[in-house]
Amino acid sequence: MFSDIILFFNDFLNYIKYLIKSTEFLLNSVDKRIGFIIIFIFGTIFGSFINVLIYRLPLEIDFIFKSSFCPKCGNPIKWYHNIPLISYIILKGRCYYCKEKISFQYPIVEFISGLVFGLLYLKFGVTWDFFVLALFYIISLPVIVIDFKYQIIPDELTIGGIVIGLILALLRSLLSFQLDSSISLGIFDSLMAIIVNVLIFVIIYYLSFFIYKKEGLGFGDVKLAATIGSFLGVYPSLVSFFFSFLFGSILGLLIMIINKIINYKKVNLLKKYVFSSGDYLSTISIIYVVKTDIDKKNSVYIAFGPFMILGAWFAIFFTNFILDTFFLTELGF
Ligand SMILES: [Zn+2]
Repeated sequence: MFSDIILFFNDFLNYIKYLIKSTEFLLNSVDKRIGFIIIFIFGTIFGSFINVLIYRLPLEIDFIFKSSFCPKCGNPIKWYHNIPLISYIILKGRCYYCKEKISFQYPIVEFISGLVFGLLYLKFGVTWDFFVLALFYIISLPVIVIDFKYQIIPDELTIGGIVIGLILALLRSLLSFQLDSSISLGIFDSLMAIIVNVLIFVIIYYLSFFIYKKEGLGFGDVKLAATIGSFLGVYPSLVSFFFSFLFGSILGLLIMIINKIINYKKVNLLKKYVFSSGDYLSTISIIYVVKTDIDKKNSVYIAFGPFMILGAWFAIFFTNFILDTFFLTELGF
């Protein structure tokens, strides 16, 4: 009986392995340019889903089963009005029913997602690494936008991300992809990194609370650290935190200087200008300053989630380079 179960499980795993291998083979054998276009289209579809996450998660609307609707008139959106990029152009950026303007954020997110998927494909091919990083991207972008807009990071992204990271790591361990993977983890590395990252961030959380007498980090950041750990592992996480704190403090300093130079009233004027003119394309730093809570003169709140995500993507591409250059060769690893 017990051996039957193991046999069944083994067959099942082999079947998944076979499926993955044949998909890999099919997609990797096509011309890179055609492959790029196919993967780009896939990316825009996931971009569409990312838009749904960005809009619905902060409002706590079901993001899986509830079908798309217009935020203004509430009419359900037909599938042929919901084709990534193309529908936006055909509808001239307006709702089919009430002619309400559709935010430019929608096609932008769809396009960026297509591009990121395409670039990941060019770098990794259709591999396990590609799959893992594509999923990490689907979590990354909503974290950046939602934390920036609302200063929260929904649990669906952090806790959900941890679960996805762990499942991927478990699958990798079970299916033993020794293949060409340089990024994805096994289950023990993933668990280890979650524990280490939570410890680090809980310590920082309470330290900053103790020193500044206020929340220096949100608890969402602690959870996000665990999410990053579950995908990246211990060393890349440390590298990512280094970059996040570096970028974060550069911006913090910039804001302090700007606050010193232009006084509070002027910043408020700037705030009014940017929002009334809809000039969202002005530099990120200015928008960041404007979005930053500057009501209390000396305490600026910077959403840290976007920096953690930025640091994570830096770590994904540069960890090996950094460890090789500065540490491991010295230590003789
Ligand atoms: Zn409408």
